[in-house]
Amino acid sequence: NRRIVLNSRPVGAPRDDDFRLEEAEIPQPAKGQLLLRTLYLSLDPYMRGRMSDAPSYAAPVGIGEPMPGGTVARVEASQHGDYNAGDLVLAYSGWQDYALSDGQGLVKLDPAMPQPSLALGVLGMPGFTAYMGLLDIGRPQAGETVVVAAASGAVGSVVGQIARLKGCRVVGIAGGSEKCRYVVDELGFDACLDHHSATLPQALADACPQGIDVYFENVGGAVFDAVLPLLNVRARIPVCGLIAHYNDQSLPPGPNRLGLLTRTLLVKRIKMQGFIIFDDYGDRYGEFFAAMFGWLTAGKVKFREDIVDGLENAPQAFIGLLEGRNFGKLLVRVAPA
Ligand code: NDP
Repeated sequence: NRRIVLNSRPVGAPRDDDFRLEEAEIPQPAKGQLLLRTLYLSLDPYMRGRMSDAPSYAAPVGIGEPMPGGTVARVEASQHGDYNAGDLVLAYSGWQDYALSDGQGLVKLDPAMPQPSLALGVLGMPGFTAYMGLLDIGRPQAGETVVVAAASGAVGSVVGQIARLKGCRVVGIAGGSEKCRYVVDELGFDACLDHHSATLPQALADACPQGIDVYFENVGGAVFDAVLPLLNVRARIPVCGLIAHYNDQSLPPGPNRLGLLTRTLLVKRIKMQGFIIFDDYGDRYGEFFAAMFGWLTAGKVKFREDIVDGLENAPQAFIGLLEGRNFGKLLVRVAPA
């Protein structure tokens, strides 16, 4: 039983030696327990926050503890009345081959699920985040302009496609021409701009001739700087993530632009609201699942998975996620499904 533990707290970007691979015996389930075999491990940006002990909405991982994470797992052996060997479940069993569970927090996968890994992507946490953040906080109206960054990723790709379904003009921002081409040609966004380009502010202004009504915030940094002057009166900003800042060790050097931000919020009566998906919307997962399942089966929402083979490759893949090396929802295939 291999597992990857937190070896040290990263200073800035995580490095290989912040993780350690350990081997242990495969545990045996006692009465009331079941043994899970990880098939897919989801790698997500929030894990960077768990590696740090700065105060946040969730407790940090302890040094020497397994890295946490959502998984799709198969029940290998069961001493639990509700589960049988062979069942597929959505679990939170972390970066390891096997884990014991008492059944708490497990969700049996719907047999209608077209492929089990989708429970970690478009039909799971990232898709749910896109759906609630956009529809409940962003409230896009037909004809409005919606901008989203990390547009080829797990959350951003779904945000833009739902906004298109709602009749909006949708402008994505992504890293590099290959991702941008995919976002326009495959996902159907109206335009997509490369955030590595020095001309992003002008290109964004050109792509949003009517200004921006909804900015779905995934990254912060230079992208938000480009968005701020283009926001319309009564624009909405769901604050979902700030991936450009997750490795920051301190605030960036001045000038202090907080006054510019608050003045823009005031004079344009902008609503900017953060959210943490399961804390704030856990009771609406069923509504999301029904809507997304319908769009998927009708071919109205597309998705892309970036699958890395082997648990031992999880640290490098995670480091790459924070640098934009993933292309689509990042998953580790830990064992064949
Ligand atoms: P993605 O699949 O989008 O992968 C992360 C992407 O972020 C990278 O591929 C890269 O894409 C982009 N990125 C990384 N660094 C930068 C940077 N400096 N500037 C601009 N873009 C950058 O990840 P997810 O879809 O899983 O997550 C997207 C966001 O949503 C994250 O901020 C995450 O923390 C947040 N989130 C929040 C939740 C909540 O409950 N609030 C729940 C789930 C996710 P590119 O190459 O295109 O730049």
